[in-house]
Amino acid sequence: MTFNEPDLGVGLLLGSQSLVVVAGGGGFIGGHLVRLLRERGARRIRAVDLKPVEEWYQRLPDVENVRADLRSEAECRRVTAGAMSVFNVAANMGGMGFIEAHKAECMLSVLINTHLLLAARDAGVRRYFFASSACVYNTGLQSRPDVTALRETDAYPALPEDGYGWEKLFSERMCRHFTEDFGLPTRVARYHNVYGPDGTWDGGREKAPAAVCRKVAQARLSGQHEIEIWGDGEQTRSFTYIDDCVVGTLRIFESDYADAFNLGSSELVSINQLVTIVEQIAGVELKRTYNLTAPKGVRGRNSDNTHIVETLGWAPSTSLQVGLEHTYAWIHDQLSTGRRDPILTALAARVE
Ligand code: NAD
Repeated sequence: MTFNEPDLGVGLLLGSQSLVVVAGGGGFIGGHLVRLLRERGARRIRAVDLKPVEEWYQRLPDVENVRADLRSEAECRRVTAGAMSVFNVAANMGGMGFIEAHKAECMLSVLINTHLLLAARDAGVRRYFFASSACVYNTGLQSRPDVTALRETDAYPALPEDGYGWEKLFSERMCRHFTEDFGLPTRVARYHNVYGPDGTWDGGREKAPAAVCRKVAQARLSGQHEIEIWGDGEQTRSFTYIDDCVVGTLRIFESDYADAFNLGSSELVSINQLVTIVEQIAGVELKRTYNLTAPKGVRGRNSDNTHIVETLGWAPSTSLQVGLEHTYAWIHDQLSTGRRDPILTALAARVE
């Protein structure tokens, strides 16, 4: 992964001598963010995650990899000591199948952001980033597949995704008030369905692009040319490639704007169209069955990028076709070489 973004990440906050903390550094987005920060010249990076370090998606050299449960205020104080910048991309989360069945667990991520904010304030952190989600948007605006793309102002009046979305909206609000009341500069991005290599692709927490790539690759490798789709496949989404996500994160972080930004592709597709693209990449055509009782989430969702384009002069640009080619190749490689998503190894260890 290389980025043609010469002006990115070279400022004081991410300069080589400044300590940058990435909470959730063992996860999908956190791993790519650490990689980008290193590439942009940050030399003092502390990546922190709940998972044992050997289960992280990426472990990079010259990075201080710390295992800590950031629901604990004491642990947040330990890991933010001496930091100038904090990125909070840690959360207990997953795709629709996970968040619909674990609402309380999703909401408990509020402890991570609350304790990190307190610790960052007291440690004199100069800037704090929070990873929010398109799940903060009013679900009443997302009931049709031909949805009007969501603008940042559409989060209010509030009716977010139950559990996960409420936690994100509350935590965004907490960031805002830490800025207003305590002078801690905060930045917020609302990610829209991020996908790519080195992320969750099996085990129940994976999102639609990874799940579809896995199912298509399994069908191709096994010769059983069938695929089960959740819902009727006509629900729509936009999907954001991971490189755009981490570049956009740094752009928002370095900007002068404290308001939440959409960070999402505006290329709207149905799940059926997503499956067709992956089938074409794989060179197979599968018999589709539809599981109408499976979790489906909202009927339609897209990102309106007017705000990010007008203020930062930038928006995600990787096409779904290109992003899925990379993602499918990576997942196919995992399967064909017998590798497992580290999350499965972790789950098996807990059962034994
Ligand atoms: P991920 O699950 O791969 O990464 C999250 C990481 O947080 C995991 O490695 C997990 O172990 C860690 N974590 C969980 N609880 C923790 C705790 N108590 N202490 C320390 N670490 C803990 O997920 P991701 O896709 O990389 O998501 C990163 C952030 O972006 C999350 O806040 C998520 O809600 C948000 N987000 C992601 C998407 C997406 O499509 N991936 C969309 C919207 C928002």
